[in-house]
Order: sequence, then C-alpha cells, then structure tokens
Amino acid sequence: MKAAVYRGGGRLAAEDWPTPSIGDGEVLLRLTGCGLCGSDIGKIVDPATKVPVILGHEVVGEVTAVGAGVSSCAVGDRVVAAHHVPCGDCHYCRRGSESMCAAFKTSNLDPGGFAEYVRVPAPNVRHAMFRVPPHVGDEAASFVEPLACCLRAVRRARIEPGDTTVVVGLGSIGCLFVQLLKRAGAWVVGCDTVRDRVALAGRLGADAGGPPEVAALAQQKLTAGRGADQVILTGGGAEALPWATEVLRDGGTIHYFAGGGGDALPLPLETLYHRELTITTTYSSSPSDLAEAFRLIAGGDVEVGRLVTHRVPLESLAEGVDLMRRREALKVYVTP
Ligand SMILES: [Zn+2]
Ligand SMILES: [Zn+2]
Repeated sequence: MKAAVYRGGGRLAAEDWPTPSIGDGEVLLRLTGCGLCGSDIGKIVDPATKVPVILGHEVVGEVTAVGAGVSSCAVGDRVVAAHHVPCGDCHYCRRGSESMCAAFKTSNLDPGGFAEYVRVPAPNVRHAMFRVPPHVGDEAASFVEPLACCLRAVRRARIEPGDTTVVVGLGSIGCLFVQLLKRAGAWVVGCDTVRDRVALAGRLGADAGGPPEVAALAQQKLTAGRGADQVILTGGGAEALPWATEVLRDGGTIHYFAGGGGDALPLPLETLYHRELTITTTYSSSPSDLAEAFRLIAGGDVEVGRLVTHRVPLESLAEGVDLMRRREALKVYVTP
C-alpha cells in the first residue's frame, strides 16, 4: 500500500509500505480520510521525533476485514477509531488520568492515519471505535478525536456558567473551543491576528474577538475590568503565557492545550503564587470523551463542516503541512 512516511529533516513523501495484517479482535480499515492535526506538525518540526514514522490519528475508514471475535462492526461499515486506549483499570485510569496510563501511551493505530490501510488493535476496537451513521460525512466524523480532546480540556479548565474565557488561536481547534465554551455557558472572547478566523469564530458563537489588543479590551469590558476566568491557549506557544496572565483575573486559570518541544515557562512563580493562578493542561482524550464527542457530532450539536478548508491527497501531505504552518489552512483533510 501507499503511505506518507516522515523520514526526518522535513522529508515527507508517499512510499510503498507493507499493508498491515490483523489478528484476533482486530480490524483492518481502508482509510477514506484523516485530518491533519497540529500535533502531527509538532512532531515534524521536533528533531527528537523517532523516524521513519507514519503520522495521522484523526482517521475515518471502511472496515475491510475483521478478526475472530469482533462483533461490534462488520465488513463495509464506516467507522472512526482513536489511536490511543487506556487500560481502564490502573491507578491513573481510576483517577481520571487515562491519557497518562501506560497502556494508553503504548497503544497506536498501525502504521498511522496517513496511509491507505490501518490495523486497529483489539483494545481500540473494543473501547474507541464508533460506527458512523449515514447522515454524518467522513470529514465531520474525522473531528471526533480533536473534539474529544477539547471536551476534556473544557472539563479540566473547570469552566462554569457565567465565566469569561479567552481562546487564543482560532484555528480549527480554537473554533471547536468557541462552540464548547458557549455550550458550557461561558462568555467567549476569541484572539487571533487573522481577521477571517475571528469572523468565523463570531459566526460560531464567540461574543467578541480580534488580535491581542482588541481581545484584551473585549474581555475587560465583559468582566468590568476584573479579568478573564480562563485563558485557553491553542496556539502561540509558551510565549503567549505572559500575555495570558495579563488578561486573567486573580485566581484564574491558564489552560495550555497545544504544547511543543522546547516549551519553557516564561513566568515568575511569584506571579502564580501571589495571584493564585492555576495552569492546567490537556494531553489527548479518554474513551468517555470520545463517546461524548461522537454523540455531539452525530447529533449535529457542534459545527465541524465549515472547518475543513483544504483537501490534499496522500502524495501531497507535505503541501498540507505547509498550508497549516503558513496558517493559510484552518484544517487540512488528507485522502488516500
Ligand atoms: Zn489530533
Ligand atoms: Zn490505565
């Protein structure tokens, strides 16, 4: 089969790769598409990434073979499958830290979403695979994984009705956050330097938005000068942290959603201490977050259709990466 293989040093090209074979409890998917995630790009720019590797984890595909004992799907079904699955039973899992479970970190789709076929391992089949109903398109279905991560973040950032929340970065993830935060009852201020993104966030429910100066003023107005209850960082990296503390109220929370290699904390601990600020983070999602995300997308409760702005074939994945890095594309969808 063909797969887009990352070989380090920015080299990313379609190559022949062995088609995976499946065992008991496993499923083989012929992929119809896979979303390109900011974390895939993070791995491409991180020199520590182990290569060769096939990235991509926001997969949608058709079942072409099922292993012995699989009853949850049949050949011909259209499904989404998550890449990581926790054990559900360890100390981490029992305390809601499923994404820190040892099983979670070692599970994966084989070889990855930017390929023609993937093997879905048995635990993923059991706990993190969903049959896509006919009224939900492939592109919309590919948002189950990223939406699940955002749902987890909204919970971990402890949003309460009436809170004012600033979302930094209005790419596809920022646009998912805007919608989830409105559902949670918050006032939402979007922050991005790209005017079209601010406009889209407004159509998706943001109460105000603009570049940093405008967002800072908007949040002051909404909170009568008190400051935002939360700032969610989906872009801008660690450099955005000092700005986040300026727009945050005393006792507020910074949620660091998108991190990368080399990020260090450019903040005096004293600021966190005296102002009783909290930093929370989210890494990936759990099976219950995925189930909730699937329910929201299947129910049409979250708008995802407008977020895919570019579609590229597997052979042109490098082009899709450039589009995202130049911030031209909101979301790139990759098709074999
Ligand atoms: Zn992702
Ligand atoms: Zn576990």
